[in-house]
Amino acid sequence: MLPEEFRRFGHEVVDWIAGYLQHPERYPVLPKVSPGDVIDALPPQGPENGEPMEQILADFQKLIVPAMTHWNHPGFMAYFANTSPGPGILGEMLAAALNGNGMLWKTSPAVTELEQVTLGWLRDWMGLPSDWFGMIHDTASTSTMHALIAAREAADPDVHSYGGWGTSKNLIVYTSEQSHSSVEKGAIAIGIGQENVRRIPVDAEFRMRPDALEQMLRRDCDESRHPMCVVATVGTTSTTSVDPVPAIADIAKRYGMWLHVDAAYAGSAMICPEFRWAFEGCDRADSLVVNPHKWLFTPMDLSVFYTRRPDVLRRAFSLVPEYLRTDDGSRAANMMDFGVPLGRRFRALKLWFIFRYYGREALADMIRKHVAWAQELAAMIDADPDFERSAPTPFSAVCFRYRGSDEQNALLLERVNASGEVFLSHTVLCGKTVLHLAIGNMATTRAHVMRAWELIRQHADFSS
Ligand SMILES: *Cc1c(COP(=O)(O)O)cnc(C)c1O
Repeated sequence: MLPEEFRRFGHEVVDWIAGYLQHPERYPVLPKVSPGDVIDALPPQGPENGEPMEQILADFQKLIVPAMTHWNHPGFMAYFANTSPGPGILGEMLAAALNGNGMLWKTSPAVTELEQVTLGWLRDWMGLPSDWFGMIHDTASTSTMHALIAAREAADPDVHSYGGWGTSKNLIVYTSEQSHSSVEKGAIAIGIGQENVRRIPVDAEFRMRPDALEQMLRRDCDESRHPMCVVATVGTTSTTSVDPVPAIADIAKRYGMWLHVDAAYAGSAMICPEFRWAFEGCDRADSLVVNPHKWLFTPMDLSVFYTRRPDVLRRAFSLVPEYLRTDDGSRAANMMDFGVPLGRRFRALKLWFIFRYYGREALADMIRKHVAWAQELAAMIDADPDFERSAPTPFSAVCFRYRGSDEQNALLLERVNASGEVFLSHTVLCGKTVLHLAIGNMATTRAHVMRAWELIRQHADFSS
């Protein structure tokens, strides 16, 4: 592509993006497409010869955009929202242009060092200890898998050389019934095995029960198994419940286990001092994950993994072949030594743009507003005789249900989502179908939340 052609289409694309961001409600939040529609609309064979850019962009608008679920839509209140604001998009564009690869310090010094600087800022904003080491991964699932690998390295260094089958230790991971599936998936991926993940029961507010954890640990130790790691969650995926991290940290210390905290969603709220209560004890963890691509308004993908013990991570992963040996001194971190991937894209650039453009105070203020609107909605649900709240609402996600059958709640969800104005998700709590409404998009206003509640009430009419 000639520079002139790039310039022309570049302007056109930026104009399109500006219009898209200006009117996120132009499209229904959930597309009206069926599985296979996109595949059927596209040719089965790739083009033998190049096609004009005009044609490609026209097809993008005609075939791709209408088949998107619009995460930038202010009515996106399913799962946990994720925003792609202007500064983040500009950062991604420039990262693509520079195409830096941060495998070694030398292969892109700025990729490595900007990551250290931005994650240092975030660590301080979150009130985490100043000696913690941070690195960026694609997702929380990858971050948690790395926590499990470090925990295994600490618990049984022989696994490094001989694999899990070559050593005698039966390593066990502990996490609550409400924790994210990524904990089990990570354990499967690294060969710990699902049967060696203990799902600890929770209390009435969906928090891990330390007494049950202790009981399970005692049994495993009596039967000569070896506790390796406990994963506590601050802000669980279903209800955003907060595990009692201080008590879990005490137990982890007593049993010599690695403590990993999954704060993928709620960790962002740590930048607001008034929510720090929920993170008590996190400074005693060995590692913690937070996803700026959830509630810090950062485009997919950007998950941050912090650890107080980068030496263990490095011991687990440093395997330097001769062609990658460099001698750039002790300040030069080679990020390939701390994780599975060799190549690493320049994710820190978008984070730097976002942090500088908004500043901590404005980011914190948006999170604060989301929590305030969720509390307001929770109070309205409590006051409505047709509805009930299904869990406490510590942050910006509200779990509630129509006081009726599971079928009626499923139908309500289907009707509300078919409106194209909002997208809610569901979960199951205490055996009952529950609606999950989470506020977290930068474009969402109080009016959108009120409109969602209006739609929910309107559609909760099962008389006919
Ligand atoms: C969303 C979520 C995850 C998984 O996040 P990915 O980045 O998509 O892997 C893990 N844990 C919790 C608590 C989450 O909310």
